[in-house]
Amino acid sequence: MIEVAFLGSGSTGNCAVIRAGRTTVLLDAGLSPRQIGVRLARLGTSLDDVSALFLTHEHSDHVAAAGALATKRGLPVYATCGTLAKAGLPGPLFADLRTVADGDEIALGGGDLTVRVTRTPHDGVDPVCYVFADGTGHRVGVATDLGHLSAKVLEALSGCDVLGLEANHDVDVLREGAYPAFLKKRILSDVGHLSNDAAAEGLTRLLGERTRIVVGLHLSKNNNTPTLAERALRRGVERLGANVVLEVAGPDAPTGWYRARPAGGIG
Ligand SMILES: [Zn+2]
Ligand SMILES: [Zn+2]
Repeated sequence: MIEVAFLGSGSTGNCAVIRAGRTTVLLDAGLSPRQIGVRLARLGTSLDDVSALFLTHEHSDHVAAAGALATKRGLPVYATCGTLAKAGLPGPLFADLRTVADGDEIALGGGDLTVRVTRTPHDGVDPVCYVFADGTGHRVGVATDLGHLSAKVLEALSGCDVLGLEANHDVDVLREGAYPAFLKKRILSDVGHLSNDAAAEGLTRLLGERTRIVVGLHLSKNNNTPTLAERALRRGVERLGANVVLEVAGPDAPTGWYRARPAGGIG
């Protein structure tokens, strides 16, 4: 059994927790260590249970607490070379830093959890996303901070039991909104952020027989609303006639646990 909960999602801070067997890991650490602790407690777990931190890329909404977790908590940190360097993580003397690269597969907890690394199209130095699998092959895939859904990402995330996918902005709201032109251009670019429609469109390729839950992530506070994101994703799901639970995660409170298992509902 594998499960995921999103402690916070959005440009103010991203952090998720993934649990399989007796192994628990964090995905990104864009909240304060204190908030991570508080929100883990609300999910019935704690930093003491966490055995590793995986980072997608160096933007501060993903790495703010990484240094503290690496040094004060001694958490091993997995990230690409470029992410570690740009996040300033080679600095701490006693940090346990472990370099990953596109295509790697990392096994943790004696086979409890396998983590596959895939490069993402985003304007970080060397950004990646991760797909987590338990010992029975059930998978949780999470991809945010993507300018578009590359063939590589589609292949890696296709058919996951639980899919966390960026639905960053509504293109019309962004275009008509108050952001300066350069920022609009950056977000809309091939290495910016994934729009609601692009995420919904991508579901055609991403949903599989085993997909039970889709969670919209990294919603922009200024250029999106939970309703707009959910409506777009729902259109994508309904077009396929798929029977999946659809939710969106927010910045201020953790979601519940989303479980990948053949029977039973979400936790
Ligand atoms: Zn981000
Ligand atoms: Zn980013």
